Amino acid sequence: MTDVFTGSTELFDTVLIANRGEIAARIQRACRELGLKTVSICSEADKQASYGETADSFICVGPANATRSYLNKDAILLAARLTGTGAVHPGYGFLSENTSFSDAVEKAGLVFIGPDAQSIATMGDKITAKRAMIAAGVPCVPGPDTSLPDDAGVVAGIAEEIGYPVIIKAAGGGGGRGMRVVHEPASLQEAITLTREEARQAFGNPALYMEKFLQHPRHIELQVLCDTHGNAVWLGHRDCSMQRRHQKVVEEAPAPGISAEIMQPVGLACVEACQQIGYRGVGTFEFLYENGKFYFIEMNTRLQVEHPVTEMTSGIDIVQAQIKAAQGKYLELRQDDVICEGHSFECRINAEDPDTFLPSAGVVTDLAWPHGEGIRLDTHIHAGYRVSPYYDSLIAKLIVHAPTRPEAIAKMRQALAETRVEGISTNLPLLRALFEDAAFAQGETDIHYLEHWLKAWRAA
Ligand code: ADP
Repeated sequence: MTDVFTGSTELFDTVLIANRGEIAARIQRACRELGLKTVSICSEADKQASYGETADSFICVGPANATRSYLNKDAILLAARLTGTGAVHPGYGFLSENTSFSDAVEKAGLVFIGPDAQSIATMGDKITAKRAMIAAGVPCVPGPDTSLPDDAGVVAGIAEEIGYPVIIKAAGGGGGRGMRVVHEPASLQEAITLTREEARQAFGNPALYMEKFLQHPRHIELQVLCDTHGNAVWLGHRDCSMQRRHQKVVEEAPAPGISAEIMQPVGLACVEACQQIGYRGVGTFEFLYENGKFYFIEMNTRLQVEHPVTEMTSGIDIVQAQIKAAQGKYLELRQDDVICEGHSFECRINAEDPDTFLPSAGVVTDLAWPHGEGIRLDTHIHAGYRVSPYYDSLIAKLIVHAPTRPEAIAKMRQALAETRVEGISTNLPLLRALFEDAAFAQGETDIHYLEHWLKAWRAA
């Protein structure tokens, strides 16, 4: 992959990976390729992790319950101190978008491999994020960039002005929670009361805002890469419309049918936004796309699960780039030099029942992975691995890259046919069937397509 950074600054030589599973293995690989030492952490349930054997240090930070291990800031910082770590990579999920953790890491004199606490805070609140995006000229969903007042009459007026259907969203929401769609004025007040209560309880922040509910959008997102010296580029786009309950199942790059002309101004506005807020490292701008228009919904201030599809098309190792940015190196790449080639798909292989979607824990008794040109597998599991019931059900990411989208689909079909995971249930049957679906193969399906398709598939 291409090296897009220069500069000899080396702020650290050891990285503590504050995560688990496939992403812990992925980050460890990037660190080793850069000649950095690694400290991996685990809970008592993850002591068997293969990346523990290849880490320079492997430290148990607490029991299986994530609140007491992977979310235990003090234990993680103690592990960093005991091992002489210079930097902390949070991965995704867990503490990756937690301002008090990134603050604590920096106060401990360590480098947080991610943006500063201020950027995380601005983007973590959906209202301040929307305001920052509007200021930078990033297109947003119609609706005010202020929280909803208590006055029912004023709120009803805002909904009328936007036009029904509208969506009520919690400013501090995440993970697909804290949202409610309202189709007519009669249901507005109740939706607000319910969402406010949910927001107060789940996110500790009762602030709500309202925007237009788009009925048939696609989910298209844009990857950015920034250094600490004001240089920023965007690395093309991804389509993540294949979702179940707001959880992505299959991702691809580029988003099919999106021309460079329509994407260009949006990409430039995202880069402008990064420069305005002093963003550093990698990040993702998520958009809904409908009738030829983009609408910003949120920014993820971290590495994302689906980053490999962009690595395959752009030829840039995003995790290495993220680490180099944190080391203070200079991003040499200019926007005109970003060339995305071919087409890439990622399938999330989950340990779950393909019919009920309930997580499936247990021992992987045997497995077979696909091989060949343009096939990549990011995983931490092996035969004999015990899938724990405590964490996310993602056990592997199967990624393919080919010159065209139809060729990438053919490659994924073959790769899925060669994949075998025994002893536990997985969503492999669902993924295999989806890659045979004509409408999916056609591309440009909306965010509701997978749920409709699943109903028909399960009924068949
Ligand atoms: P979260 O942070 O919980 O993931 P997002 O703001 O990213 O919340 O929204 C999650 C999902 O909710 C989107 O991917 C989309 O499916 C749906 N959604 C959010 N806002 C809208 C909207 N204005 N219109 C239609 N669907 C929306």
